Amino acid sequence: MRYEGIVYRPPSEANSLIIQVTIGCAHNKCSFCSMYKNKKFRIRSIDEIYEDLEDARKKYKFVERIFLADGDALVLPINNLRKILKKIQTLFPECKRIGTYGTPKDVLRKSTEELIELKNLGIEILYMGLESGSDIILKEINKGVTASRIIEAGQKVKSSGIKLSVTLISGIGGKDKYIEHAKESGKVISSINPDYIGLLTLMVEKNTPIYEEVNSRKFKLLGAEEIMLETKELIKNLSVTNCIFRSNHPSNYVNINGKLPEDKENMIKLIDDIIDSKCGYREEKFRML
Ligand code: SF4
Repeated sequence: MRYEGIVYRPPSEANSLIIQVTIGCAHNKCSFCSMYKNKKFRIRSIDEIYEDLEDARKKYKFVERIFLADGDALVLPINNLRKILKKIQTLFPECKRIGTYGTPKDVLRKSTEELIELKNLGIEILYMGLESGSDIILKEINKGVTASRIIEAGQKVKSSGIKLSVTLISGIGGKDKYIEHAKESGKVISSINPDYIGLLTLMVEKNTPIYEEVNSRKFKLLGAEEIMLETKELIKNLSVTNCIFRSNHPSNYVNINGKLPEDKENMIKLIDDIIDSKCGYREEKFRML
């Protein structure tokens, strides 16, 4: 198998076989994201992908999960996805779950019937980066999509039967908009009712536009306590069912995990306890992406 550049995957795909079906991200313009800045986007050829899959089959006796990378693998035309998924079914009959990243735009370019077909061919979970539910913030970070389109995309994934995991970035609104970020994100997520919510916390990297904004003091970073207040406001504004909430990413100051709505009050209480005691925060030097 050939991996090109650094390969990223969600924390829950730590034990998955990762197959790069694209290199980089087709959008590659979000102001905070440095993941694919050094990669020129391209769709890998079917032959290259087949070779990687065959190579992996020789190396690994048992593959339970496969993750399709890079940034927005769902951007692939349906024909390519169909061929890749069928090849996986043939080579890895033991594989129980295939996951992929998909941007809202990628989802909206697929019909519901196509998403259902992908589900039937093995795509069990789709990871969609929302980053924020606020239109103002989405514009500022150059996400290239509005809150209403995110809702449309999220609902479409849910209606296809594919499990949906959405990712939000704590602190992405800065000091000026952290309540706006929490409230609007709560509204968007509630309208989608995803299966999983994953929380990351903004970390500013040098080769990103947001780094310049922080340096010029246009963007004011939140401290750990403000991040907690934002998370509390977000959780208060979530009205979801049967949803797993995880903030177990190494960028986060605190791990807060639970099932919603059952654990809502406990999660809020945990946040209050942390704010009151000023204890339990991950040290800055241990935070990472
Ligand atoms: S956040 Fe996602 S969509 Fe935005 S540039 Fe990074 S990989 Fe691409």
